[in-house]
Amino acid sequence: MRAVVGLPCQIEAIRKVETFKKRLNVDTKLGLVIGLFCRENWMFTCFKALLEDFGERPENFDRFDIKKGKLLCYRGEEVLEIPLKYGKPYVRIGCRICPDFSAELADVSVGSVGSERGWSTVIIRSERGMEIFTNAVRDGYLEVGEVNLKPLRKLCRDKRESALREIEERRKRGLKVLYEDLSVEEILKRSEGKVFKDLLDEVVEQGACTSCGACELVCDFVKVDSFPSIKTCQMRGLCYLACPRTSLPKSEIERSLFKGKRDEDFGYYLSVVSARSKIGIRGQDGGVVTTLLVYALEKGIIDSAVLVSHENWRPIVKECKSRSEIISSSGSVYSYATLLPHLG
Ligand SMILES: Cc1cc2nc3c(=O)[nH]c(=O)nc-3n(C[C@H](O)[C@H](O)[C@H](O)COP(=O)(O)OP(=O)(O)OC[C@H]3O[C@@H](n4cnc5c(N)ncnc54)[C@H](O)[C@@H]3O)c2cc1C
Ligand code: SF4
Ligand code: SF4
Repeated sequence: MRAVVGLPCQIEAIRKVETFKKRLNVDTKLGLVIGLFCRENWMFTCFKALLEDFGERPENFDRFDIKKGKLLCYRGEEVLEIPLKYGKPYVRIGCRICPDFSAELADVSVGSVGSERGWSTVIIRSERGMEIFTNAVRDGYLEVGEVNLKPLRKLCRDKRESALREIEERRKRGLKVLYEDLSVEEILKRSEGKVFKDLLDEVVEQGACTSCGACELVCDFVKVDSFPSIKTCQMRGLCYLACPRTSLPKSEIERSLFKGKRDEDFGYYLSVVSARSKIGIRGQDGGVVTTLLVYALEKGIIDSAVLVSHENWRPIVKECKSRSEIISSSGSVYSYATLLPHLG
């Protein structure tokens, strides 16, 4: 079994592919799905361009963080603060219709908002996530503290409202925004007869694509990096069915995965806590993601973890099979990797 860590849109893609795995002929073999909170994101070229506007380059910095509306760029003791309003023109257009801040379809979602510095906010959603998290606390890998739900709720609400406004705007301008919560049956009907050209017309050309790579995972002819120049199509429509932005059976996925209560802001949960590593792992915030992965690996729950790391802050995807590889991927990379093809 493998674990994966992803942004909310990547987790949606993973869950959609899992839902239709027989038709799509893929088995991701995932034993733990960890989601990160996310307000917005940039393509690497845009992240680089944003820093260049300030006379800098990504490789000039040791780490980055987003706190209180600012991108914080750390170089030793020095910190360059870039107000996020300067990054707005660079935000990926697919992000602007994204309503999910807290990775509502993950087993466990992790972010910083609502926790003290050096701690992470953790939403435990599935029974599997609960079992792994509780055992990691029991076995001394993690410690738990108090969380403040107010700022978490606010960010969830703000993001959802802004996405709904953007969707309405786009529809008024005659653009298609398919991305609806439909049943499995309705999705199969909507996907009938659709091929790669429809995916290009109805998702990519409409500015809805997130570069998740679900389409690339299910068809050898699709390469997200080469959109829209791909001309070969087997006319099977697997890409259209796999894409979370053509439609998403969100309610059905939630019913099948979760047994807890549903919060109107951050979705299904069994527990929400603040936590941090107790085994000395320094992560972006409390090192919870890395510590949970190390725990799952050392207890034989997973054999590897598919993670986003970076080379000079350009995101790269790695399958990590050892404690040291997992630890070397800790920290946040503020741009986007095409993750799903690595789950094949
Ligand atoms: C683009 C982005 C935007 C974010 N926005 C917010 C926000 O607005 N508010 C908030 O509270 N939290 C946000 N987070 C989450 C936050 O930065 C931390 O990732 C989270 O708190 C977990 O911290 P940790 O110390 O437990 O993780 P760590 O133990 O440091 O582990 C981090 C994990 O995230 C993975 N990862 C890093 N970058 C990426 C990426 N680009 N795509 C997929 N996986 C990645 C790494 O592989 C690693 O496994 C964001 C994260 C990212 C990547
Ligand atoms: S679409 Fe953009 S805002 Fe939404 S989760 Fe993905 S990267 Fe974050
Ligand atoms: S077109 Fe492909 S990469 Fe883009 S959102 Fe759909 S599945 Fe993901």
